[in-house]
Amino acid sequence: MAATPNSAEARDIAYHLHPVTNARRHQEIGPLIIDRGEGIYVYDSNGKQYIEALAGLWSVGVGFNEKRLVEAATKQMSKLPYYHTFTHKSHGPVIDLAEKLIGMAPVPMSKVFFTNSGSEAIDTALKLIWYRSNALGLPQKKKIIVRNRAYHGITIAAGNLTSLPANHTSFEMIVPDVIRLTAPHHYREAKPGESEEDFATRLAEELDQKIIEAGPDTIAAMFAEPVQGAGGVIVPPATYWEKVQAVLAKYDILLVADEVICGFGRTGTMFGTTTFGIKPDIMVLSKQLSSSYLPASALMINDRVFEPIADESNRVGVLGHGYTASGHPVVTAVALENLKIIEERNLVSNAASMGERMRAALRKLESHPLVGEVRGVGLIAAVELVKDKAAKTGLGKAGELGALVNKHAQENGLISRAMGDSMAFCPPLIITEAEVDEMVSRFATALDLALAELPEGSVK
Ligand code: PMP
Repeated sequence: MAATPNSAEARDIAYHLHPVTNARRHQEIGPLIIDRGEGIYVYDSNGKQYIEALAGLWSVGVGFNEKRLVEAATKQMSKLPYYHTFTHKSHGPVIDLAEKLIGMAPVPMSKVFFTNSGSEAIDTALKLIWYRSNALGLPQKKKIIVRNRAYHGITIAAGNLTSLPANHTSFEMIVPDVIRLTAPHHYREAKPGESEEDFATRLAEELDQKIIEAGPDTIAAMFAEPVQGAGGVIVPPATYWEKVQAVLAKYDILLVADEVICGFGRTGTMFGTTTFGIKPDIMVLSKQLSSSYLPASALMINDRVFEPIADESNRVGVLGHGYTASGHPVVTAVALENLKIIEERNLVSNAASMGERMRAALRKLESHPLVGEVRGVGLIAAVELVKDKAAKTGLGKAGELGALVNKHAQENGLISRAMGDSMAFCPPLIITEAEVDEMVSRFATALDLALAELPEGSVK
């Protein structure tokens, strides 16, 4: 990248601190500037085309130029560009979206609370759970269970529920009482020869043990993604959810399904909760809720959660929590239109069939010297990269092989994400057969180019 003085690249380096970026390295290599989008493609400022294999940040379900969302935003902006939802105020779009979401819920849900990002929704879930424990006269019931490799956001509270080292190291996190479990990652965590079912049994026993150690009466909830996304697209082993839920039920611990990535079709059914038979008390929604055209998030709570909260707010006088943009009219109007598009165009069943095609095509690459495992469900998958298949190891430093393949992918017109040494695939729900094939073919080329760069005989 040649950053001439005053170029957009130079100004980005001069003025912009990027999230989830190596700030020092950014000064050397500068930004990739994306200029426009169309379907599953985005184009950079030089006109180069890329397949967006991660749908932005796992979120642009309807693709990058959906005119109906532009029209929904424009129409609502002209009528009522902003209003709030504090102190009993409401408006048409927020009521319509709340009703729509409760109607879509795969298990009985009672109320929707609106927020603006996944992290805010997770923070809200945590605060409402603590509020509920106090309402029930159980102030000691505050601890939260999460799994290693979880991603639940980055605010002080949500960031603590996240269990990825890069999101913790060097930040002074205020650590509430969090109990961390082994990630349900069969490839990395199962013992040699351990079946998925036996691994799931062992993880459920670990959960039971940790609850007993911490004191069952002190634990309020478990937060979990149906499929762990940013931690590596970790699809839980067979029978995992059934066994985990039996343990939670035994100790009366709430379950929060973080559907921020899985929600609205990603796993081949409307919610990850449906795909895995999960019965949560709270569902956290974002990303494909608005296809990220505007920042939107929400949580649905059931009556077990709502009723004590309503009593407590009555006792205190107000539920003292909410955001200026909670239930923003333009955001909720766009989200509602986005959900209509997902339903009208059968994008959930498209995700299921295109996902099957994508996973089958990726599995054909399992014979490639750099591929250790392909895993996925619906239209979300990961390819675990290794240099030594038996030892399951990458290059010298963790993440180096992922970065190498990712670099070649991007040069070859494919934007994905290396999560350590695994590459994620999570394209827009609108993807077609030909586009799936093209995406996997660009990835295969990137693998070959990466392999050609490694010293001969170093790959086993
Ligand atoms: N939960 C999950 C499962 C996520 O994947 C993310 C974001 N990738 C979040 C929460 C946080 O969302 P946000 O970045 O909007 O705060």
